[in-house]
Amino acid sequence: MTDQPPVRSTTPRQARPAGAPADTAVRETRPKDTGVRQVRPKTEGWQQAKDETGRPLLQFASPKRGKPPVHLADLTHDERITKLKELGLPGFRAKQLEKHYFTHYTSDPAAMTDLPASGREELVAGMLPPLLTEVRRLETDRGDTIKFLWKLHDGALVESVLMRYPGRITLCVSSQAGCGMNCPFCATGQAGLTRNMSAAEIIEQIVRANALIAAGGLGGKKSTDHSLDRVSNIVFMGMGEPLANYNRVMQAVRVMVDKEHGLGMSARGITVSTVGLVPAIKKLADEDIPVTFALSLHAPDDHLRDELIPVNSKWKVDEALDAARAYFDATGRRVSIEYALIKDMNDHAWRADLLAEKLNARGRGWVHVNPIPLNPTPGSIWTASEVPVQNEFVRRLNDAGIPTTLRDTRGKEIDGACGQLVATEDDEVAAAATPVG
Ligand code: SF4
Repeated sequence: MTDQPPVRSTTPRQARPAGAPADTAVRETRPKDTGVRQVRPKTEGWQQAKDETGRPLLQFASPKRGKPPVHLADLTHDERITKLKELGLPGFRAKQLEKHYFTHYTSDPAAMTDLPASGREELVAGMLPPLLTEVRRLETDRGDTIKFLWKLHDGALVESVLMRYPGRITLCVSSQAGCGMNCPFCATGQAGLTRNMSAAEIIEQIVRANALIAAGGLGGKKSTDHSLDRVSNIVFMGMGEPLANYNRVMQAVRVMVDKEHGLGMSARGITVSTVGLVPAIKKLADEDIPVTFALSLHAPDDHLRDELIPVNSKWKVDEALDAARAYFDATGRRVSIEYALIKDMNDHAWRADLLAEKLNARGRGWVHVNPIPLNPTPGSIWTASEVPVQNEFVRRLNDAGIPTTLRDTRGKEIDGACGQLVATEDDEVAAAATPVG
């Protein structure tokens, strides 16, 4: 079925971000050609779930479930000291525990011989309670990509994907169990939101990955690669919309970058992505942590994006782009625009031109576009754009002066790529057989 976009629509003018040119509102003019195939989410029968007011169903609030136990990584250094004192222990134990956890990646009391044997088990149980139980691990042949399936204390399932590249090791982390943003192309979105993850549950994914790397469990290292053997880059592109779990995600980011009392990672290596929660993007710009910011745009026109990214019903393309530009102004960090290329859905040449126009209308040198061929959801007719179409999309953006790089789809073979992190029936069975702790 073909479904032609209307020839013309307009988007509302938005407030001008500091430093942007005066006119950032670009009229969405589409070619009058009739030969362009246009599929839409509803083409394959997908129905947008709606709330009682008729708007697309979005879950921002986490359903109430038992909270995970409080862990050292949920607390600031001062709060750790206070908690230890409440337990009748000296505050300097905080530093010892931090070293075991963030440097040696262990929560095993037997390995902590610098702590007095008497009461050690209780101390560790109180400060470093178990958070993630490994249910499954899937690896590629070379062993340079590993997907973990974790069970949380309440049985909720989340995943993370570890990938070695030349000179860096990236971990794609989950920030929520499930997701409430309801994007039709995303396996996680179809399952809805189970609950927000705690800061420590986010951090524990990194610590466990680091422990595995330190034990030599991640393959693919070249003899010429002299980079440190631990996770160097984090992308919040696993399960969940990170900015819908803002406070916990930010606590986790603070622990990641804390050189004295945390993981000591570089903020630049941390990518926080969002489908466009505009107020939270503004908040992120005001934090004094220059993480890399990525906007998952996937369509430059509201007409399609309203369907493809349901949160667009709240914050439109121009608002999201203005917020992204404001992030650049506040931090000096170049913004990434993520764009899943979906065959006949959003991969049209005119959309590449419109995207370039909208980005250029907000100035030069502030943005980079990462198109990524879609990883099809099992059972879906949605699929990646054809290679010549991908190349033409990239060429048009680059020719318009927008730096654009086609991203690879590492993890595809183990369903570990963006939009594919969702527990399968097999996972559920395996999880049921795995005791927590
Ligand atoms: S694409 Fe991202 S925001 Fe959308 S449903 Fe999936 S995980 Fe959530």
